[in-house]
Amino acid sequence: MGTLKQIIVVGRGPAGLYLSTLALAQGVGVTVIADGLGSCALWGGHWDFVSRDEQGHVVQDPWRWWEGRPPVPEADPVPRSVWRAWWQDLARFWRQLGIVPDHEPPRTNRWLVTPVGTVRPVFLAPQWHWAEEEPRPVTLVGFHHFIDFPVEVAAQNYQQETGCRAEVLVLPHPPLWTPAWQPLQWAWYFDTDPGREWLKDALRAASAPASLPLVFPQILGVDRVDAVFSAIQAALGVAVGEIPLTPPSVGGLRVQRRWERWLRRRGLRLWSAHAVRATATSVELEDGRMLTADAVVLATGGILGGGIQVAVNGAATDPLTGVDLGQATTPRDLGRLGYPRPEMAVPVVGRQVGGRDCDRQGMGGAMILWSGRRVWRHLEAAVGEEAPSRHEGNVGRLS
Ligand SMILES: Cc1cc2nc3c(=O)[nH]c(=O)nc-3n(C[C@H](O)[C@H](O)[C@H](O)COP(=O)(O)OP(=O)(O)OC[C@H]3O[C@@H](n4cnc5c(N)ncnc54)[C@H](O)[C@@H]3O)c2cc1C
Repeated sequence: MGTLKQIIVVGRGPAGLYLSTLALAQGVGVTVIADGLGSCALWGGHWDFVSRDEQGHVVQDPWRWWEGRPPVPEADPVPRSVWRAWWQDLARFWRQLGIVPDHEPPRTNRWLVTPVGTVRPVFLAPQWHWAEEEPRPVTLVGFHHFIDFPVEVAAQNYQQETGCRAEVLVLPHPPLWTPAWQPLQWAWYFDTDPGREWLKDALRAASAPASLPLVFPQILGVDRVDAVFSAIQAALGVAVGEIPLTPPSVGGLRVQRRWERWLRRRGLRLWSAHAVRATATSVELEDGRMLTADAVVLATGGILGGGIQVAVNGAATDPLTGVDLGQATTPRDLGRLGYPRPEMAVPVVGRQVGGRDCDRQGMGGAMILWSGRRVWRHLEAAVGEEAPSRHEGNVGRLS
């Protein structure tokens, strides 16, 4: 493609991985530089479209909410058909990673159960998540000494909030268990054959209420989650789902591991390094090395990711470019800090884009899709490719 042969992406969070995927899918070489894992492991693995309006009320129909609303103040609204194509493409891509999306994409937000039994809206989720159009009666499964999921409290809250029955099933802990086990150790254990066998036996012995879905804390394996689900379904013949726990999240780790494996197989170079300066075509590392490429993209994650520094007087700057990103006068301002346009001198994607508070409104996934597509279209156009029509021309397949 044109003269765009190699790009550098700074940041290994979901926005960096998404932009890298768009580039590799078009045959462009990618080097990712990151000084940390990024926020994937903080997510349960689901991508939000928009969960709450500016006043904090739940949004049920994100398609309608986005109609006429620009992703950032200076942009045009994205037509519904284009959002749809982007989400469909992402869902198809998940399948390539071995992540089965539960809808492709959903018509409305659905209800995801939280570790304390309340429910929150969710959009595109891997099918291991327990996300339903309407809450329904469930059996919540806990384990002795597993404090990350207080199952009795969760069941009480679930019943109170949804009006649906929540039975409680508490399983013992496995023979290998020690008090040092965190959710990840449980998940690694269930990846093993003995772990799966133990779980099947424990469930049979506990005689779960027949016909109710079994909803577990999100610890049913890391790389072999599908085998664990199949084993439980085969043993008990009921629907199974998981509740994402508080960070670090096993669901997000599953996604990141599969995604990075896929990218590496396609030639992605991943460097652990701290960048200190970036221009449109170069990145300087802390150890003095200078890397150059046809383009550089910053996916550095805003304030939480390390991509924006805020001084005590509230002045916000990008430490890599020195660009002044305005002033935060109230804590609310912090979530909106970032670049007014993603395709500035050094293009930015993900939370580095400003204007909306992705975390407060639950729209992180949408902003990654939009900024990734927009920056990718800009890079293609900048190297003399025939510029595609506003949005539609850029609905390229990831595969
Ligand atoms: C706890 C939590 C839960 C969330 N859950 C969801 C969810 O369920 N669904 C959803 O859609 N969104 C969720 N979000 C998403 C959120 O709103 C953002 O959209 C998302 O985290 C942004 O990802 P990112 O790739 O832009 O940045 P990040 O994931 O923060 O990645 C930033 C990357 O930049 C690197 N970096 C920064 N500066 C440098 C430097 N100088 N040199 C080298 N590397 C550097 C970091 O090491 C890191 O790899 C969640 C966020 C948080 C914090």
